[in-house]
This record gives sequence, structure tokens and C-alpha cells, in this order.
Amino acid sequence: MSTPDRPFASYHLWSLVAPARGQEHWHCQMRRGFIKARQHEPEVKALLAKATPPQHIGILAQKGVYEFHHHLHWLTQSDGVEKVAQLLNLSNFTIKVKQRVLQILQKYQKSPLLLGKRIIQLTSGDEGFPKPIVIEQANYCFRLYAAMDCVFIESDSTLHILDFKTGKSAFDKRQALVYLLAARYLYPGKLAVASFYNLEICQKSELITINNNELASLESELANIAYKHQLDLQKYQAKSSNFSKIFPPNPGHHCHFCPFNSICEFSHLQFDKSLSMPITKNRS
Ligand code: SF4
Repeated sequence: MSTPDRPFASYHLWSLVAPARGQEHWHCQMRRGFIKARQHEPEVKALLAKATPPQHIGILAQKGVYEFHHHLHWLTQSDGVEKVAQLLNLSNFTIKVKQRVLQILQKYQKSPLLLGKRIIQLTSGDEGFPKPIVIEQANYCFRLYAAMDCVFIESDSTLHILDFKTGKSAFDKRQALVYLLAARYLYPGKLAVASFYNLEICQKSELITINNNELASLESELANIAYKHQLDLQKYQAKSSNFSKIFPPNPGHHCHFCPFNSICEFSHLQFDKSLSMPITKNRS
């Protein structure tokens, strides 16, 4: 089997297959279909290429931290924030994005979480897809993608994988677990912990760890996700008209925030409780 045909898994795919706790009501499989099965269609491609303001903020914040640590003197210089802002071309963004990123940079300069740490990896966000890790066991084989924002070594030699966050969304522990599984292959024999840090509110998560038994069952769960998704893709390739059966829609108010609402035929569905059936807004 050639590498590109192998099933793959990532935190992103996991989050598209199964909702995070508390998000079950708005989880929509059809979004996975658009992102992972129809991503090459011109309309879908164009929508995927558009970053939302929160996405811009996340990308710029990560890049900002990266630039501070590549020009360490800017962390103490009075015009350090301004220098980073110039490198990020912040003036090309909306006022809202610019203001929030500037606040993030100011907060980071005041309290630089990574200062003094033995950083072994810090990504700028421009690196593209990470190299996949091929996981091969007796009964499964899949590629694991894990794009880590930052990895550093603690004073006791523990590997610490840190993920930067912005905005108000809650930390999803599953992301940290995927990083810990990846670390097992990328840094064999090393003890590892993972955590999140919200750059806007300067909040650290608890340290997340996983034992060997949990790692084994996580790996097999990810293999199941990879195979299930691969099967769905094959079903879609065999009969694309079955798109909504393979990737069922879950319409609701959340459609307003879905990037595909302009092309999704289900996004205009409203639930009429009195009829207990879905109706379209423009039904004749
Ligand atoms: S618009 Fe609604 S139904 Fe369509 S993919 Fe998005 S969330 Fe799902």
C-alpha cells in the first residue's frame, strides 16, 4: 500500500468525527464531509481558504510568540511589541484583529511564559503540514499528524508539549492526548506532559499526562477513527450522491457560524416544533 492511501488520524479529524464534551448538540458530520471529502471542489476550497477573525488572531498570536523568541531582546525593549507587530504586518488586518493581537503581544512581553525554557521546537505556524508519523501494529496501520506549537524540556528532563490558545473556547484534552501519543514516537523513552496556555487571558491548563495502557487504547481508538473515516471517503468516492447519508447534516442555529452555510443545502432548514419535522424557509 502506498503511503498516501493509508488511513490517517489527527486531533482535527477526531474533533470532526466526535464532538468534545458539551458540544454534542451542534456537532455536524457534514462539516467533516466538506472539509475532508470535498475539499478540492472549487467552492469548498474557496471557503476553506478564508480565515475567520478568530483564526487570524490565533495564527498571528502564535507567530508573535515565535518572533519574540527569535529576537529575544524585543521581550525587554520598549518598542518590542511594535517590532513584532511590524513583522506580522498587523496593519493589513481589521482593527478588531489588530487590537486583540496587540493586546496579546503586550501581555506576552509582560509575562513571557517560555523565557528561560529549553525550547526544542517552536513553530511559527507557517510550516504547513507536519511530517506524518507512521503507526504500525499487528492489526492496524495509519499515519498520525500532530502539529505541536511548542516543545520544551523541563528542569527534570521531562518533555513538555505546549499548545497556545486564544479566544474563549475551552481546552480540549483530546488534543493534548494526541500530542502525547506523537511524542512517544518522536521522542522515544522520554517522559512527556502536555498543557495549554491561553495567550489572551494568560491562563495555563493543568498538566496532562497519560500512562502506557491509556496510550495503547488511545492509539487503537485513533486507528478506529482513521479506518472509519477512510471507509466514509471510499463510500463517497464510490457514490458522491450519497454525501448526506455518509456525512449526515445536523442543522440548527449553529449553521450561522458554519463556514459552509452558503453552499450547504441543509443550512436553511429550520425545525418547526409544532409539526415535529424539518421545513425549509422558502418552502412553497
Ligand atoms: S451549514 Fe449546518 S448542516 Fe450544513 S454543514 Fe454546516 S452545520 Fe452542518
